[in-house]
Formats: sequence, C-alpha cells, structure tokens
Amino acid sequence: MPTFVRTEKCDGCKGQDKTACMYICPHDLMKLDQDGSDTGHAMKAYNQEPEQCWECYSCIKICPQNAIEARAYADIVPLGGSVQPLRGTDSIMWTIKFRNGTMKRFKFPIRTTPEGSIDPYAGKPAADMSKIEEPGFFNDENGYRAGNRSELIKL
Ligand code: SF4
Ligand code: SF4
Repeated sequence: MPTFVRTEKCDGCKGQDKTACMYICPHDLMKLDQDGSDTGHAMKAYNQEPEQCWECYSCIKICPQNAIEARAYADIVPLGGSVQPLRGTDSIMWTIKFRNGTMKRFKFPIRTTPEGSIDPYAGKPAADMSKIEEPGFFNDENGYRAGNRSELIKL
C-alpha cells in the first residue's frame, strides 16, 4: 500500500528547505507543494507518484506530525482502509483500519536499550592501519581470514 499525506495534519515541516519525508524517501517521491500550484494545498507535502512507492514506510515513521498514512491503491478516493505506524522510543504501534470499520492495534518492542547507547566497537582493539596491506589483517578471534577459501566450510 503506498503512502498519502493527510493535508490537514501536515505542516510542511514548518517551511524548512527539505522536509523530513523528502529527506528520507529512497525514491524521491515526496514533494513539498510550496505555492499550492500542484495540489491546491500550499506548504503541504504529497506523494508525487504513489504507484512508484516502495512501501518502505520510512516517510510515515519519520513524519513529526504523523500526517502520512498508507492505504490501498484503490483508496486514492479513501474508502476507509489504512495502515498507520506510530514510532516511539522503545516500541512501535500499528493501527490497522479495515473498510468495514474494524480497527486493530498492535504494539511491538523495537529496542531494549536507550537510543544512542550502543557502542559497536566497545571491547575491540583499535585497528592498526599500518598493517592494512598485510595478510591476516582481518583475522577474527577464531583465526579465520577473509578470502581464504581453504578455511571456508565446504558443502
Ligand atoms: S514529514 Fe510530515 S509534516 Fe513534514 S512535510 Fe512531510 S508529511 Fe508534512
Ligand atoms: S513509503 Fe518509502 S518509498 Fe513510499 S513515499 Fe514513503 S519513503 Fe518514499
């Protein structure tokens, strides 16, 4: 299901040069309608080509106004069905609306540690870049070397 901006909720990211949804979209689909000439809604974002949407949900999750929703292609004239994730610091809430009015919510944990607290290099020795050309530079703690076929598991 592609994404659509709810214009009544979008604030154009307060007129910044590049909105959050424009920044995050890997397919460059989101666009801010500066003067309203594209959509009739000035300073509101919109998905330029919903049929090209990767449905990655990145724009939905990053939107600070929770103004983007995913709904079926047939629902360009909304028939009531939609999917709306709301990301929190430690969990994400999915709200699913069906066309018959049924609504379901699912909450899933997304992390167990505070944001920014993970140090991926903790406890690892610092790289000695003067040895980067030497064989064995990428040995892991078990002695396996990248690129040494004799050490690979044979099927
Ligand atoms: S990120 Fe949300 S509030 Fe910002 S321009 Fe896009 S839809 Fe509007
Ligand atoms: S769901 Fe992904 S591909 Fe589709 S408009 Fe949003 S960020 Fe772009």
